[in-house]
Amino acid sequence: MTVAIYPGRFDPITNGHIDVTRRAAKLFDKLIVAVYKIPGKPTLFNLEERMAMAQQALAILPNVEVKSFEGLAVDFAREAGAQVMVRGLRVSADFEREFDMAMMNKNLQPDLELVCFMASPDYQFLRSSLLKEVAKLGGNIHNLVPENVAAALRKKEGVY
Ligand code: ADP
Repeated sequence: MTVAIYPGRFDPITNGHIDVTRRAAKLFDKLIVAVYKIPGKPTLFNLEERMAMAQQALAILPNVEVKSFEGLAVDFAREAGAQVMVRGLRVSADFEREFDMAMMNKNLQPDLELVCFMASPDYQFLRSSLLKEVAKLGGNIHNLVPENVAAALRKKEGVY
């Protein structure tokens, strides 16, 4: 059985993350969406909120689980029994950062294979930080996030 983890901040989960998750879930027996706790760094949504939003958005995918992790993603992968790490690549800024991280992870855990998904054309420009900025300024983000996330952004004080 091939188990993969898809680690990230998911602050909040977007249609870009969901698209990668759907595509990866077709390739692996089990896919764990691993929500990073991020010590000491402010996030718009706390860990529980980020996990709940992801769980709700991905509930339709039977072989996908949402879990949280602290520390190194490679350590979480080992604990979860995963052989593969999934990441998404957008055309602009991702490659160098992901490449560095992949080399470091290879050094830390050579057995863990990385599988990168090219972001779909509709979501190439979509990142959580820009999404939050646009939502805060009242822009329409409904085609970029599931309804539960749009509602959560609306509810956040001062946002959208
Ligand atoms: P971000 O970099 O947007 O803050 P995360 O840290 O949650 O997002 O990202 C987790 C993974 O998902 C990373 O590999 C990132 O490159 C990927 N990702 C983020 N947004 C998209 C998108 N729109 N399409 C494809 N992959 C994405």
